Amino acid sequence: MGAIVAIVGRPNVGKSTFFNRLIQRREAIVDAVSGVTRDRHYGKSDWNGKEFSLIDTGGYVVGSDDIFEQEIDKQVRLAIEEADAIVFMVDVETGVTGMDEDVAKILHRVDKPVFLVVNKVDNAKRAEEAVEFYSLGLGEYYTLSSINGSGTGELLDALVEVLPDIEEEESELPRFAVVGRPNAGKSSFINALIGEERYIVTDIAGTTRDSIDTKYNRFGFEFNLVDTAGIRRKSKVKEDLEFYSVMRSVRAIEHSDVCLLLLDATRGFDGQVANIFWLAHRNNKGIVILVNKWDLVEDKETNTMKHFTEKIKKAIEPFTDVPILFISVLTKQRIYKAIETAVEIYQNRSKKIPTRKFNDIMLPIIENNPPPAYKGKYVKIKFCTQLPTPYPQFAFFCNLPQYIREPYKRFLENKLRENFNFTGVPITIFMRKK
Ligand code: GDP
Ligand code: GDP
Repeated sequence: MGAIVAIVGRPNVGKSTFFNRLIQRREAIVDAVSGVTRDRHYGKSDWNGKEFSLIDTGGYVVGSDDIFEQEIDKQVRLAIEEADAIVFMVDVETGVTGMDEDVAKILHRVDKPVFLVVNKVDNAKRAEEAVEFYSLGLGEYYTLSSINGSGTGELLDALVEVLPDIEEEESELPRFAVVGRPNAGKSSFINALIGEERYIVTDIAGTTRDSIDTKYNRFGFEFNLVDTAGIRRKSKVKEDLEFYSVMRSVRAIEHSDVCLLLLDATRGFDGQVANIFWLAHRNNKGIVILVNKWDLVEDKETNTMKHFTEKIKKAIEPFTDVPILFISVLTKQRIYKAIETAVEIYQNRSKKIPTRKFNDIMLPIIENNPPPAYKGKYVKIKFCTQLPTPYPQFAFFCNLPQYIREPYKRFLENKLRENFNFTGVPITIFMRKK
């Protein structure tokens, strides 16, 4: 889990170019593994060993070409609320614009680190022109060329310097986040669970500044609900901006162990739901998919559920080992089953397989299906073990790790899942030299 950095600024200054530059290296690898198209506006990056999440806020504004001042204003405010640091990007080609001044005004009142970044400084002449941005009253600025990369290092050095070290909190209770698109039924679900005030044991301020866990203890279940505060606050933001829910999801997901991904059965598993799914996956969180409002689905023949399930599995390939439940918050159908499943997924995620047992099962499988020879070289896997990380990661030791290709790693993952229950949990496999 890392800190969150938001990039704000008016359209066309180069936010997404910069964003892509920072996340490219890592995400390209992730994409190759999962075969999915990533959310183009949220990603992970790291610098000097410090990991952070990056949000390109511009990406969430619809019709960003003729953006309304109001939208910008909202976008910046939300970014401020959620982020640990803000990169405010401006464009040396156009110079200072009215919209830049509006954003600067909002940022003046912020007590989080703000980095004024003058982009498109592709050459020395342009570096001189950048001085006009002093007029924004934000002090020192960084110059950058998102296209050729110059200036990136200086900015990132300063940026990671101010980011808080957010450690994976040691909580004895599972932390569940209820996530999904607006109107999926998240608040209703939470209300159905904690509706009666006396069952909320405490509001514990999380170790990180503004996340609040609500402890739940009922029917033999005990867990912390992450970030319900944000959901309660929802009424203030009437316009159900997709952007808002994505920002909230990022926060909630990062602080959770298991995500309960709610979707509206009448709307299906669309691209936005998929984005949230991959967000949880990329953060190595446990996932339960809850198809809500099942009461509204009229034609419930035996096959309807099956078809629905198949469609979702198609959308989440290759990570299909995920429970999918059909619930109705309205009629309270299977909502406790949902929690029970989330608890199981939590246990799967915390599972530690003894090394001896792991080798006893995996090595014979490998023996019978050795990695194919690559460039005429034979790869021999000698030993494997689960790593002592908060979520399941495995190392396979061999003579030539670089020759193990993706399909074989996929094969190992499948075998691992067949033999040990990791349903609902992303797993990572490393090949190491021995
Ligand atoms: P956004 O709307 O703020 O996300 O801006 P984009 O990243 O889409 O960039 C807008 C335009 O500026 C594109 O045509 C980019 O190629 C161009 N651009 C971005 N960064 C630079 C840069 O460092 N130098 C130059 N010359 N052009 C850039
Ligand atoms: P959120 O934006 O995800 O928090 O969604 P809400 O909890 O505010 O729910 C959005 C709408 O869906 C509300 O009108 C709810 O009453 C309705 N709703 C939630 N769950 C169900 C359900 O299981 N069945 C039906 N028919 N409506 C539901």
